[in-house]
Amino acid sequence: MILILEGIFIGINSKILSNLYQERAKQILKEDTILVKLVAEGNPRTKYQELFSNNALRFTLVDLTGKVVFDSKKTEEEEKRMDNHLQREEIQEAIEKKESFTIRYSETFDTVMAYYAVSIKNSVGEEYILRTASEYSKELLQIREFHLVQIVFFLILNYVIHFFYKNYIKRDFYTKIKRMRKFLESGEMEKINYSKDEYWLFEFWDILKEWQGKNLKNISKLEKERRILSEVLHSVDLFIGLLDSEGKFIVKNTSLKYVVDPYEEKYLEAIKYLELITPIKNGLVNKKEYREDIYIQSLKKYFLFTMKYLEFSNRFIITIKDITSTREAVEVQKTFINNVSHELKTPLTNIKGYLIALEDAPEVMRKKFLNTIKTNVERLENIVLDFLNISKIENSNLVNISQVAVEKIKKELLEILSGKINEKGAKVDFLFNLTDGRDYLKVDSEKIFMILKNLIENGIIYNKNSEPEVIVKVDEKGDRYNISVEDNGIGIPIYEQDKIFERFYRIDKARTSNLGGTGLGLSIVKTLIEKCGGGLVIDSIEGKGTIFSFYILK
Ligand code: ADP
Repeated sequence: MILILEGIFIGINSKILSNLYQERAKQILKEDTILVKLVAEGNPRTKYQELFSNNALRFTLVDLTGKVVFDSKKTEEEEKRMDNHLQREEIQEAIEKKESFTIRYSETFDTVMAYYAVSIKNSVGEEYILRTASEYSKELLQIREFHLVQIVFFLILNYVIHFFYKNYIKRDFYTKIKRMRKFLESGEMEKINYSKDEYWLFEFWDILKEWQGKNLKNISKLEKERRILSEVLHSVDLFIGLLDSEGKFIVKNTSLKYVVDPYEEKYLEAIKYLELITPIKNGLVNKKEYREDIYIQSLKKYFLFTMKYLEFSNRFIITIKDITSTREAVEVQKTFINNVSHELKTPLTNIKGYLIALEDAPEVMRKKFLNTIKTNVERLENIVLDFLNISKIENSNLVNISQVAVEKIKKELLEILSGKINEKGAKVDFLFNLTDGRDYLKVDSEKIFMILKNLIENGIIYNKNSEPEVIVKVDEKGDRYNISVEDNGIGIPIYEQDKIFERFYRIDKARTSNLGGTGLGLSIVKTLIEKCGGGLVIDSIEGKGTIFSFYILK
């Protein structure tokens, strides 16, 4: 568009200049013609040669047939040879309109000339066309030069404008890009103005905003998920770490701080025990999966160590779990099963032996054998009952508190223990000291019953006194009951007092005649008291008696 306008401008300018030049040439030729006309009209034709030959001005006289009658720049001979001028543009027009002005190429002079022609009459009344001419090529050249100068000027102008405009566009574009960038980075939006030409930018900006909106949503979603993951990672009780191939932790949780330093990146510095460093070192080299139980001597703990190679990312996942309690539980279970088998084996072997002997035994012995078999069956029964109690107690944490009448407790205990009481001629006394003279306890009846039954039974069994006696005292104090079971039995040596609560532990069997014991009674008692929120102590003197004191919560 601008180029077209510039073209028009140059064209108009050139036309004006050309018109000016033409007008000036015409004017000069016209003035010359007036002079020549004056001179020519006042003189006969024969005098023309003399009058005009030395003049710088060229003029030609042509008659109405087109014959050149006179040419101021030609000799008479040359004039005669000159071709007919009737077809010349200016001559034709002058004949028709009495005056004409033309600029055209002259074959005679091989250049562009300006011609001015008028009709004149000489002194004798003959009509001629008087034509004056002057060279016009210089003017043409000047016009062209002017033309060229204008073109060059506009070219430079265009270039300069283009240069500044481009820079302006660049800067403007850069400012907009900067704002977009700021928006993308911080979500902060500044207004951006667009010109019509930049509609594409507007659309692009719209797409960008939409995209950024989605992006921000995704980022916050990802951030949330990252937090959840991190929370999960840090809440598990095993150590999890992602190790790169250089042996640096990229991510790790803070569990097992006593094994892995949470602030160190390199595994060699983070892992505190050689027992764990060695398998990691091997894993890094062999890129294989590892899973093994590792015992750390100085900690006296077992750990389950796993290492997995992630081929795609060339990284390793390491987990370390403290499995000491599981291992110990397994050990305890193993010992328990061994003990159970051992405990069951003895009465079973006895029963089997006496049954075989019974077949051929004389009548007098039979009763004795049957009694032994009965004792062993009772022992088996005791063992099985204790096992059942143990598994029942260990599998339930429930404490079922209710009001239990004191009389009911006394009655049931005396009833169930009546066999042993009668056998030993023992005396069992109960002393209840309850708040406001209440006649009930707020306890888990099943548990308190089992505790007291075991303790009273032991007080009767492990008793060689001629008058065996067991006293049960219950004192109510605030939120608890302080209970003691006291006997006048054989007592427990001080060095045995801790051990008697272990499962299957029995003090030298020779001390008593009790063959039915399982060594489980006190371990059951201790567990039950703990489940009732209490604790237990022993006070015993060998040969004098024992007091088991404990408390339970209401
Ligand atoms: P058991 O089934 O053998 O009675 P317990 O766990 O009840 O198992 O008791 C463990 C050991 O503690 C018994 O073998 C016994 O030697 C000793 N003992 C328990 N109670 C008394 C007590 N009141 N007086 C003396 N010794 C006791």
